[in-house]
Amino acid sequence: MTLYKKTKLFYMKVLKFGGTSVGSPTNMKSVASLINTPDPKIVVLSAMSGTTNKLVQISENLYKDKADEATSIIEELHQTYKQVIDELYKSDKYKQQALDFVQSHFEFIKSKVKDNFSSHEERGILAQGELLSTGLFQLFLEESNISSVLLPALNFMKIDENEEPDTAFIARQLPLDLAQYPDTNLFITQGYICRNSFGEIDNLKRGGSDYSASLIGAAINAAEIQIWTDIDGMHNNDPRIVKNTYPVAELSFDEAAELAYFGAKILHPSSVLPAKQKNIPVRLLNTLQPEARGTTISARTGGSNIKAVAAKDGITAIKIKSSRMLLAYGFLRRIFEVFEEYKTSIDMITTSEVAVSLTIDNTRYINEIIAELKEFGTVEMDQDFSIICLVGDFIEERPGTVLNIFKSLETIPLRMISYGGSKNNLSLLVKTRYKNQALLAINEGVFSKSEQPAHA
Ligand code: ADP
Ligand code: ASP
Ligand code: MG
Repeated sequence: MTLYKKTKLFYMKVLKFGGTSVGSPTNMKSVASLINTPDPKIVVLSAMSGTTNKLVQISENLYKDKADEATSIIEELHQTYKQVIDELYKSDKYKQQALDFVQSHFEFIKSKVKDNFSSHEERGILAQGELLSTGLFQLFLEESNISSVLLPALNFMKIDENEEPDTAFIARQLPLDLAQYPDTNLFITQGYICRNSFGEIDNLKRGGSDYSASLIGAAINAAEIQIWTDIDGMHNNDPRIVKNTYPVAELSFDEAAELAYFGAKILHPSSVLPAKQKNIPVRLLNTLQPEARGTTISARTGGSNIKAVAAKDGITAIKIKSSRMLLAYGFLRRIFEVFEEYKTSIDMITTSEVAVSLTIDNTRYINEIIAELKEFGTVEMDQDFSIICLVGDFIEERPGTVLNIFKSLETIPLRMISYGGSKNNLSLLVKTRYKNQALLAINEGVFSKSEQPAHA
């Protein structure tokens, strides 16, 4: 590759627009005007909001051999797209082209209404949302005389046999694909979808378009990754549960990664790491309010004190109690090896002299894990927990910070507490039925006392 092309990649920005941002003709038009600037960029699109959920429903019905139910959801979704086309395009020529394009994708989905539906076919169906949104958007740009190239993500986005991104392949392939169009400054591609190690269509799990954007950014050493969504940045608390939340202006990569992993839905759990590894700033911005400052995630950790809290549900707690010197050297390693064997990651851990408690969210191999752990002592398992994760600067000189948290939670039973693992995190385990109460109490006891940013 020539020096010129490498330099161009370096200046590129990656802009990802989520489901709501492309969820209606009006919003698609706003996105088109937002991206219509001369600087080089790759635009990553999600499926239109609601589409992936419908595709999941179609697949669930096909698994259960409910062909009629599946067909009626397919028809309903097809109708929605016909309506979108009618509003999105001006000319009959483009309306017809879009109708034909959408028709071909729905023919594909309908061809899967048959017996013996497999997970391979399900993944093919789930990919249709992003293929539809990008195809329709590209056609709209064309009608609007905005020059752009549609880059198929299935050509460069790949996961390996462990379902982890094949970053070496992506970093090799994507620049080659881009180099095919040396005079193009605007590329459109699909989020979420990829190929697996067998070359089949696969995906990066729900919410995975954020991950696509950061993998793309890392692969080309982009200048910046922007995640455009329906809210003005990472809020200090879950806005679906708590009123009066506000955007946090700056987060470090580690703080953002903790929040994303522990339930802040605005970011896919794995999406911070690729950006962190290449030190590429990630900005969270609002398509519906583009002038808002949003959140900048970078190596800097701006501000002090507690910045935000998030909560993750579906957590299982496991306690291993042993009379045999639990904390003798080598003992914890043997326990961890059981989880390693079943590729199950541990989120929280606390120990005492006679017991160790830990949490997992993936219960696929829970029976096998429990059976093996029983060799070490008595094992208890309990489900329906949530991890409440607070991030910010828990510096030693401010012991009152932690006191405030516990005071605000005085009526809520805490099953586990994890503090000191890093200087910017404190995690608590509560029964999920107390989650909302805990988030509200933390808002009242912690954030209402802290200084809110001037722009909030
Ligand atoms: P997109 O479709 O653009 O990917 P998502 O629905 O995945 O958007 O993520 C944005 C949503 O995340 C917001 O509408 C908000 O309800 C939810 N959310 C949960 N926790 C937070 C948080 N701490 N800050 C901002 N948004 C959050
Ligand atoms: N469309 C996918 C989903 O709904 C991916 C994404 O939106 O990020 O999960
Ligand atoms: Mg999302």
